Amino acid sequence: MSMSIGAHARRFTLIAFAALTLSACEEGTALAESAVARPAQDRGDFVVRPAVLETDEYTELAQQLSEERWLEDVADVLNESLILPVDIGMRFAECGENNAYYIPDDREIQICIEMFEGERENFAAYYETEEEIEDAVNGSFLFTVFHEVGHALVDVLEIPFTGREEDTVDSLAAWWLIDGDEGEQSAIAGALSFYTDPEEAADVDESEFAGEHSLSQQRYYTLTCLVYGSDTEKYANLLEDEWLTEDRAEQCPAEFERLSTSWYALLDAHLKE
Ligand SMILES: [Zn+2]
Repeated sequence: MSMSIGAHARRFTLIAFAALTLSACEEGTALAESAVARPAQDRGDFVVRPAVLETDEYTELAQQLSEERWLEDVADVLNESLILPVDIGMRFAECGENNAYYIPDDREIQICIEMFEGERENFAAYYETEEEIEDAVNGSFLFTVFHEVGHALVDVLEIPFTGREEDTVDSLAAWWLIDGDEGEQSAIAGALSFYTDPEEAADVDESEFAGEHSLSQQRYYTLTCLVYGSDTEKYANLLEDEWLTEDRAEQCPAEFERLSTSWYALLDAHLKE
């Protein structure tokens, strides 16, 4: 891919969170009722907990993120949409790496606060203006949060899946973001966070082949494919500018359609009307 990504970068403001709210979809009902038990009532919420910091380095950033209601806004959107059997915690944590986790024993999502710096460095290589970098960091952050939300939902709702869990929750994050207005820009930022220079991609460590995730470059292509497949006219530039290959692009509308039908079916019993 001959990519000067700055040229592709489209301006997007932080997500209109309300637009990301999902509600029950008729077509999935039959499968969902057979596959997933309908909970009696909404007993849980996504609950934002205080940041866990090991040093003073991120005190100010944590304060700022709390004032800007980063996690709180995501939790609100999820709580508007989902019927949950138990609470699921969400918090920032200082973890010493650029990562995020879902911890089943604590039913808690931890987003490493270091992610903001790590992603900023990644995107600075692609984007020119501070505003573009900021938007990409925000978008990629949202993708990561929804990926971890996917792990949490698979756990507490006992959502059936086959294949890798990591692919399953990537697909949940992509679908949820793409289905909401403007959220596809976050899916694009998420995709870009996995993009690997072809020379480096050729030098994949054996441990990555053995790992539970698809290879980063595969995650990049799959996410880009889902955005393109959700609206091939709106995202024609992803194909024109060679973010995708012609061969894969042909399959993308069907891939997105199938994914969307599947997630509505799997979550139907847990989506509020
Ligand atoms: Zn994961």
